[in-house]
Amino acid sequence: MEKLQPVRGTRDLIGEDFSRYQTVIDTARRIAALYGFEEWVTPIFEDTRVFSRGLGDTSDVVSKEMYSFTDRGGDSVTLRPENTAGVCRALVSNGLAQANLPRKVFYAGPMFRYERPQKGRYRQFHQIGCEILGAAEPLADAEAIAAGWNIQQELGMTEGVMLELNTLGDADSRDAYRAALVAYFSAHEADLSPDSRTRLEKNPLRILDSKDEGDRRLVAGAPLIQDHLTMAARDFYNGVKRGLDDFGVPFRENPRIVRGLDYYSHTAFEFVTDRLGAQGTVMAGGRYEGLVEEMGGPPTPSVGWAAGVERLGMLLDAWAKPAAPVAVIPVGDAVQGTALRVLSDLRRAGIAAEIAYKGNVKRRMERANKIGARAAVIIGEEEAAAGTAQVKDLGTGEQALVPLADLAARLG
Ligand code: ATP
Ligand code: MG
Repeated sequence: MEKLQPVRGTRDLIGEDFSRYQTVIDTARRIAALYGFEEWVTPIFEDTRVFSRGLGDTSDVVSKEMYSFTDRGGDSVTLRPENTAGVCRALVSNGLAQANLPRKVFYAGPMFRYERPQKGRYRQFHQIGCEILGAAEPLADAEAIAAGWNIQQELGMTEGVMLELNTLGDADSRDAYRAALVAYFSAHEADLSPDSRTRLEKNPLRILDSKDEGDRRLVAGAPLIQDHLTMAARDFYNGVKRGLDDFGVPFRENPRIVRGLDYYSHTAFEFVTDRLGAQGTVMAGGRYEGLVEEMGGPPTPSVGWAAGVERLGMLLDAWAKPAAPVAVIPVGDAVQGTALRVLSDLRRAGIAAEIAYKGNVKRRMERANKIGARAAVIIGEEEAAAGTAQVKDLGTGEQALVPLADLAARLG
């Protein structure tokens, strides 16, 4: 039979890969809770319109990377490429858009994008993310970023990762900036990549995000948003920077940061590293407006970020390993029942414990070493009759006779 392979761009999380993944998600979940984020789980597929809202969206994610298909009922559904839109949809469809805002939401789960697979870039990958829905204040931006920073701190990876911050301004700032960009890039239109020539008409800001070499040379000389900010947008940006200072989050301003999707305004940021080659962005986010409205809700100014679990996982130097178990070893069939009761008692006491399904004492000791057991509880007929067992520390080799009733306390 042909050995079937995982689909290109997907991978199994086994052993160390799983431990890295789990450490990132568990840590993020714990820290997000300290900041008051509640976790939501939304479906991994949605009505395609949740992600693709008319002709306005020129982002790569929506225009090129979505896994969309028509289901058996004839509806167009899409495997989620990101979860901000799903969270906003859920806010509205659960009737939560009117009451009790702001609402802080954390999520973790798989995302799907049809991209060229490479190191740190997959077709199924995982994201953790935080959204603060219904808060127009720059303090919300600073707190969302601080939560993301704190998660990276707990993961021990803030060295070599830099927060790069920018503002996209408000609508008036962006209108003025867009005009300046159109004037600049139109004068160099012949040198733009074909993709960016299309962007010039639809969304010239997107050219700033182009990965094309020629485009990047032009972008280096392009006008800056900072020269087109309204007073209000400048105040907002200063508020975010002040908040970050007060939260103790270091950052560097980078006027070239833009967001991949079209509904962003004001704050845009990325945590970047040079330790992952071309896939150097580990966490990215910003402030967005209009998204909840597009799901049929009221105007709901929001801010959030998403981070790639695989990319964070690759930066980890240490990750949680499963607890080493205790091996329970019956000497002969007559004490099998006692051994199983001991095994159950240990597990009930919260101690990882294992028993081999067969084998003599020698085989069972070999098996105990193979699975990395820290101790062996050896139960012979005599010991069982006396209500005791031999406990052997597999690290030091020390052995002691222990009453069965004391095993859990002794091994806990
Ligand atoms: P990139 O520029 O690397 O394509 P992006 O702008 O498409 O990133 P976002 O949509 O901002 O990424 O997603 C947030 C984070 O999710 C990224 O910073 C990255 O860590 C992770 N990510 C995005 N796409 C992938 C992917 N295909 N595989 C693995 N991680 C990804
Ligand atoms: Mg991308």
